[in-house]
Amino acid sequence: MKKLKQKLRNQSLKSKWMLAVGATIIISYAMISIILYFSLQTWLLNNEEKNAQRTVDDVTTFFESQGPSVTIQQLQKNTALMKAIVNQEQTVRIFNLDGVEIIRINDVTTAAPLSSDVDEYITGQILEIDVAGTHAIVINKIVQIGPFQGIMQLVHPLVMFDTMVKNLMLTLLLIGVCTLLFAISISYYLANALIKPITALRDAMVHVREEGFVMQPSFDYQLDDEIGDLLRIYQSMMDELEISFTQQQQFVADASHELRTPIQVIEGNLALLRRWGKDDPEILDESLATILEEITRMKKLIEELLQLARRENAEQGASTDIIEELQKVENELQLLYPQTVFNRFVVGQPVNINVSTQALGQIFRNIIENGIRYNETVPHIKVTIHYSVDNIYVQIEDNGIGISEEHLPYIFDRFYRVDEARTQTTSGTGLGLSITKMLANKYNIEIEVKSTLYNGTTFLLQFPLI
Ligand code: ADP
Repeated sequence: MKKLKQKLRNQSLKSKWMLAVGATIIISYAMISIILYFSLQTWLLNNEEKNAQRTVDDVTTFFESQGPSVTIQQLQKNTALMKAIVNQEQTVRIFNLDGVEIIRINDVTTAAPLSSDVDEYITGQILEIDVAGTHAIVINKIVQIGPFQGIMQLVHPLVMFDTMVKNLMLTLLLIGVCTLLFAISISYYLANALIKPITALRDAMVHVREEGFVMQPSFDYQLDDEIGDLLRIYQSMMDELEISFTQQQQFVADASHELRTPIQVIEGNLALLRRWGKDDPEILDESLATILEEITRMKKLIEELLQLARRENAEQGASTDIIEELQKVENELQLLYPQTVFNRFVVGQPVNINVSTQALGQIFRNIIENGIRYNETVPHIKVTIHYSVDNIYVQIEDNGIGISEEHLPYIFDRFYRVDEARTQTTSGTGLGLSITKMLANKYNIEIEVKSTLYNGTTFLLQFPLI
């Protein structure tokens, strides 16, 4: 038993499921069949017994109605009336108290043996016995015919009853076989339907373990039930993991690539210092300044890389005043670039937006600072904030050097710098707009850029309303 239990436990989920569904259907059917069989059998037998009892009662009433002076001889001559009372398949015999047959109505079955104890017949007990190979109901009862006292015996064959019970049994067995086939197919179908997505999930997991995140299999199970939920949760988990994984790889690749140059510069300058710097104050000064510059650049680069690698969720319930945040950024940049001229226009009724103060500040800072840095004249930054019923638009225009059409699609890519020659004077990392894009995606902000070379660039931000 223990071994069987262990064996069952180790079966596949599909087999267990099939077994459970199949066994439930079969056991339920078997129980219903047994109850049905026995209740129908009892009901049919009761009917047969009532039938037999009624004939006995009718014949007794008939004898009583013949009056006290009727003789056996008179009855023997006229059995036609009694034949009308007794059913065709039944046989009624009248015996004297010595067991000798006096009258017989019908002769379908032979007589059942009589007991020598006459008292047994007083109550007219109903017996279910075999009479010369025929299954039958037998009733033996004391009767009074005029002055004659004898025993009436009714033999009621149960041929019809037996046939019906046999047919019932056969029908139930036949339905049982059909139920078994049905149970097997339905449990197979159900087990397949239920286990298929789980198997697909297992295969997907094995695939990720063996191949990594490349070409992850997708699930075609789309139902909105627990299994569907499980698959969707797994899929989104894997997507998140894949993004984190790719970002991590990208971070390592970007960081090692971008940090190599400043480290080489620092290394070169330190070597120069060791050789000549000790004696030449000019070289010392120049090298130290370059090293400091490179370290500042590295610091900025590392900060920006970390910011991009960190995938923090959007701040829920954030509510920021655009004008206030813009003012803060303008004040900061005015200090850094005092010659910059800022203009601002507000259309509509100001409302707060669902973006964190920090993210909004960073977005404004990156875009506006670019407008100032990539500029060969006095920088003019014009910001128009338009509050409409469905959206809030912020348009940031500069009068800078512009971006040519061929470069425009790539300015949000990591480390993308339009033209090294024209940008070498500005200390960019090529990460500012990638960070802006990442923050915009996080807060569902749409960004559009238009630019004309040597004429200026316009960024249009579309914020969703809270
Ligand atoms: P960076 O740190 O180099 O400024 P960004 O990601 O902020 O990096 O910008 C990517 C490139 O796009 C910049 O190197 C620059 O060439 C170009 N760019 C961005 N904004 C402007 C602008 N307002 N005017 C001209 N060129 C711009």
